[in-house]
Amino acid sequence: MKVNLRDLTLEELEAFFLSLGEPAYRGRQVFRWLVRPEVEDFSQMTDLPKALRNKLSDKATLDLPQVVSRKLSTDGTAKLGLRLFDGEVVECVLIPERDHFTLCVSTQVGCAMGCRFCLTGRMGFRRNLSVGEIVSQVILARRFMVEAGLEDKPLRNLVFMGMGEPLANYRHLVKALKILTHPKGFHFARKRTTVSTVGLVPQMRALAEEFPVALAISLHAPDNDLRARLIPATRRYPLEEILAACRDYPLRRGARITIEYVLLAGINDHPWQARRLVEILRGIPVKVNLIPFNPHAELPFKRPSEERIRRFQEIILSEGLVATVRKSKGLDIGAACGQLRAELSLS
Ligand code: SAH
Ligand code: SF4
Repeated sequence: MKVNLRDLTLEELEAFFLSLGEPAYRGRQVFRWLVRPEVEDFSQMTDLPKALRNKLSDKATLDLPQVVSRKLSTDGTAKLGLRLFDGEVVECVLIPERDHFTLCVSTQVGCAMGCRFCLTGRMGFRRNLSVGEIVSQVILARRFMVEAGLEDKPLRNLVFMGMGEPLANYRHLVKALKILTHPKGFHFARKRTTVSTVGLVPQMRALAEEFPVALAISLHAPDNDLRARLIPATRRYPLEEILAACRDYPLRRGARITIEYVLLAGINDHPWQARRLVEILRGIPVKVNLIPFNPHAELPFKRPSEERIRRFQEIILSEGLVATVRKSKGLDIGAACGQLRAELSLS
């Protein structure tokens, strides 16, 4: 079996070259090449001796998933469908912001958390993505940006908010984070790299120890009963424990944890629920991001009225917390929050 070098951290690449009887610095050279979107072949790594490039072709690959669909929204959001080696398909979403792009990255095919309002959750869990499959989304997004002439703004932010629960694929996630933030490689800033989770407490604590990046918690309800109904798989972790893990999470000065809250009409959008939310968040450095539900024919919820959304936001603001309403992008191409479902793999 050949090794896909996109699966390896810098340290692992160095060890790989040592195992071939080559000096470790060859690993550092290759690590730099792997960042470049145009590189797909060892022959392009012109600072490696020819003999080594041939040896690498025998022992290793640089395989990327295949881009099988590209959809562009009227608001400039782009969704790429990527076919993996076993035929599964995942999606990633490139979102234009004022002065940069943000890439929404997937970590699993499907998801085991079963959130009632999420299409990915409806698929059920298929498998974890490999490290290389996670990292490749950045390469392929960059390649798309070059081809589509979107290089006026840099791809600067990463959000692990695509398909899957990132912390349920913990080991691969952390390696991918190490690769993507490494100063000698992709060099994404840790504070601009956000992992979103439904609140898997042991993994939140592990991430805090091992490789803290910006964190977003999908809370969605101010009490355990409602939360258990909306996110069945997190019954194991009561809100109190999730919030305690948030309190302990290491933050840079001025940084906050994002609290995501999908607003579902008549379910979790009552004013008393906004007040209860403020109460449970008191004393924790958070900013609340309200996500009005993105409807879909297969999902049994409604988006609250604008009036209702504003009221919920105002209650939080009036208590001195930061609260923003997420403007969903890419709705027309099924790229907005909760709409990712790898249509190809189902057909
Ligand atoms: N699994 C992780 C990350 C991916 S989901 C998590 O749940 O945090 C990213 C965000 O999209 C989550 O906050 C999720 O609750 C939200 N979301 C899912 N379905 C949605 C829908 N139909 N409308 C709006 N937001 C949705
Ligand atoms: Fe999984 Fe997140 Fe969707 Fe819930 S919202 S099913 S955790 S992807």
